Amino acid sequence: MKEITLFMPAKINLSIDVLNRRADGYHYVEMIMQAIDLYDIVRVEKQTSGITVKCEHSDVPEDQRNIAWKAAEHFFAELLVQEGPSIEKGACISIKKAIPVFAGLGGGSTDAAGVLKALNMLYNNCLDGKKLLQISKRLGADVAFFLRGGTQKAEGVGEELTELPEFEGINLVLVKPDFSVSTPWAYQSLDLNQMGERPDTAYIVNAIKQKNINNLASSMRNVLESVTIKEHPEINTIMEKMIEYGALGSRMSGSGPTVFGIFPDEQTAKLAQSKLINEYTHVYYNKSIGRGKY
Ligand code: ATP
Repeated sequence: MKEITLFMPAKINLSIDVLNRRADGYHYVEMIMQAIDLYDIVRVEKQTSGITVKCEHSDVPEDQRNIAWKAAEHFFAELLVQEGPSIEKGACISIKKAIPVFAGLGGGSTDAAGVLKALNMLYNNCLDGKKLLQISKRLGADVAFFLRGGTQKAEGVGEELTELPEFEGINLVLVKPDFSVSTPWAYQSLDLNQMGERPDTAYIVNAIKQKNINNLASSMRNVLESVTIKEHPEINTIMEKMIEYGALGSRMSGSGPTVFGIFPDEQTAKLAQSKLINEYTHVYYNKSIGRGKY
């Protein structure tokens, strides 16, 4: 096998809670993450040496700054430790972006996870799951989630994952407004004493276990909204519109600015999508997906 192409999904955060801030600026969080059927296409081809990245997107670098490039670099460093210098180590990576950039949908992290998965397959699964997980954590908190996908609870600084029962087929509409939000800025600006209503994560996990979409939709919370909405009130307007157009619940994903709504059925979701398309440029209809369906 010389090359592999993977469809790597985006994620939404069904909830985000921040428990504490560490002295080094990192935050202890409790998040529920859900993979959705919006995919970047990541193609990885073995080459004799070096790493190259191709990605035709004005906001995505094609050099060492690309997180996919870093993923390959870390993979090969580990391969060198484990297998020694005799094995040829090189990768030509091409990425077709469908996941909007700077959106709160984990686009870069999923590409990085895709490169780790693809390289491991191309190198006969020489790194075990534990090693891949270790590498993913060095690349960024969300990368580990995308190695498995599905529905997961993330704790610690976002890298301690617990798999939850799969909740596939939830009808979602996403709106990505025409501005972007920096994740570090959102966390730095967060006032832990003024986060608004915090999620009851145990209740949300229970709703997922019972596949109770009404309870899930009505209990979703994201404390980062307290920061982002102050700067961009448009996010609140979109959430209100989602509800007006039939959503059971609506929240911002990650640090934003993408807003998603959970709808009771496909028809209501598509009708809402058709209305939102008149007002926003980037509107998506998606479904939640299970683990490893990519
Ligand atoms: P998250 O939801 O994980 O916070 P995000 O949607 O806020 O993610 P991304 O789109 O993943 O943000 O990343 C945006 C930044 O990362 C930009 O500076 C972009 O240039 C850089 N970047 C590096 N590699 C990639 C990649 N493969 N895809 C997208 N962005 C990348």
